[in-house]
Amino acid sequence: MRVLTGVGSTPLSGVGAARWYRPEADLTLPDRPDPSAVDAEAELARFGDARDAAREAIRDARDWAAERVGGEEAAVFEAHEQFLDDPELVEDIEATIGDGTPAEHAVSDRFAAAVEQFEALEGPMAERADDLRDVRDRLLRVLLSADAGAVADRPDAIGDLPAGTVLLAERLTPSDTAELDPDAVAGIATVAGGRTAHAAIIARSLSIPAVVGVGERLREIADGTELLVDGADGRVVVDPDAATREGADTDAPPAVTERVSTADGRPIEVAANVGSEAEIAPAADRGADGIGLFRTEFLFYDREAPPTEEEQHEAVTAALSAFPDDRVVVRTLDIGGDKRVPYLDLPEETNPFLGRRGIRLSLDEHRDLFETQLRALLRAAATEGGEGLAVMFPLVSRIEEVEAAVSAVESVAADLDGEGVEHAVPELGAMVETPAAAFLADRLVDRLDFLSIGTNDLAQYVMAADRENDGVAAYHDPLHPAVLRAIDRTASATEGTDAAGTDAWVGMCGEMAGDPELTELLVGLGLDELSMSAVTAPAVKERVREIDSAEASALADEALACETRAEVRDVLGLDGE
Ligand code: PEP
Ligand code: MG
Repeated sequence: MRVLTGVGSTPLSGVGAARWYRPEADLTLPDRPDPSAVDAEAELARFGDARDAAREAIRDARDWAAERVGGEEAAVFEAHEQFLDDPELVEDIEATIGDGTPAEHAVSDRFAAAVEQFEALEGPMAERADDLRDVRDRLLRVLLSADAGAVADRPDAIGDLPAGTVLLAERLTPSDTAELDPDAVAGIATVAGGRTAHAAIIARSLSIPAVVGVGERLREIADGTELLVDGADGRVVVDPDAATREGADTDAPPAVTERVSTADGRPIEVAANVGSEAEIAPAADRGADGIGLFRTEFLFYDREAPPTEEEQHEAVTAALSAFPDDRVVVRTLDIGGDKRVPYLDLPEETNPFLGRRGIRLSLDEHRDLFETQLRALLRAAATEGGEGLAVMFPLVSRIEEVEAAVSAVESVAADLDGEGVEHAVPELGAMVETPAAAFLADRLVDRLDFLSIGTNDLAQYVMAADRENDGVAAYHDPLHPAVLRAIDRTASATEGTDAAGTDAWVGMCGEMAGDPELTELLVGLGLDELSMSAVTAPAVKERVREIDSAEASALADEALACETRAEVRDVLGLDGE
């Protein structure tokens, strides 16, 4: 029995058989055989079959795009089909196969030459090289799969893993993780990655036990090895013995379904963060008091064109009906940074986390997506249970952005009015994720109904420490006094009454909100709502019930007076690191 340590990410345990996920290795070619050993006829037939499969997948993608977003996106796939049937390219590949080259090598060689030609061209033609690579990869996926019925558009069947799989990977992308089946995946362990990376957040939302950042030693584990993933203690136990297996608590804590208040009667809302429709029902089962953060960007993943207004409307109304008596806070599209959506053509930037992210994109190059999303939301606000809807804007750093976003809502409302479509304007709020927003919190609440603090980004920007970089994990700590002061400033801005004469509320939806060891501090700082991966909601609710508000506020004052994170940890009774 060996124990590898990492960062516990989902505080649950699971036991299963290791299975490496290496999407990058999927398209590695086997060694080239001697040409005399190649059956050219059979290889030509394989190439023909692969073309048929790729054509079918490309046509499906084209129809799908045409139906949802219209002709321009669909045209991309028409170009792909033209590449697939390009007579010169096809002839070259067939001639190469005829010379004794297996189909996959012939495809790879001839496409490499064509890609090189396109890359040598100037301007938009050079971009066609990416289309060629896409077509090549569709062909290779079929040719390299042992399964004759392989699908040309699935890089890996990550969504169809057998029950009892412990998934091992260098790191997972958010879209990989979103595809996982929580009933099949007993755990996740990754070489790299941190607790607040989006993939880790999704794993938590799916209640999949996870340990991230295990490091190079993880690579020594072979497929099929029995593993215990202990996400509470950040351990991966290799070949666990019977006692360790039995000692592991693989059951999630029981749900606390009722709303909770502190021991002296201050109500605290404990809501769930969700990233997909699949996470809504488990959040309700865990007893969450509504949704405090619906990350709508996940509706945009794993597809080739944006979701339609109708699809978004359905997703939001599904959330509203799962929580008929509660608030559902939907965040408008938050992409950029580490959240890439291939078909949206986001700009390449040297510092994407300091670049075009969140509301910046929605108010500028992706204004069309923003308006479609707002239409879906305003319509949902008028459905049964829609009065619980709230909408918030991500990565706000300027008052002008809030004003522009609010006027976009007003203009969408006017359009819907003109069309005679039923709608309502929901509560509007902003995420506080930048130091600018924290400094301006008192002005933001004059214009909005609520603020929600996103500590994952706020800690990153206050401390100038990348949330994805393990090397600066000690800096990226929401318990640093500078971050606590930013939270305090935000929470204090909502005390009393705002200029419009209505009370604004303040919540937190960063990962910090889900740590029961920090609940007293957060209540003491004045937060009204805490939103988290649903798996931690029961423990946080239990903790809230034990808290005395006056003691909590004294604790917060003490923490705010600290100069170092070590002192803050000491005040909270936490160990050094
Ligand atoms: C945050 O930044 O704390 C947050 C909740 O948003 P995300 O993690 O999606 O960036
Ligand atoms: Mg954020």
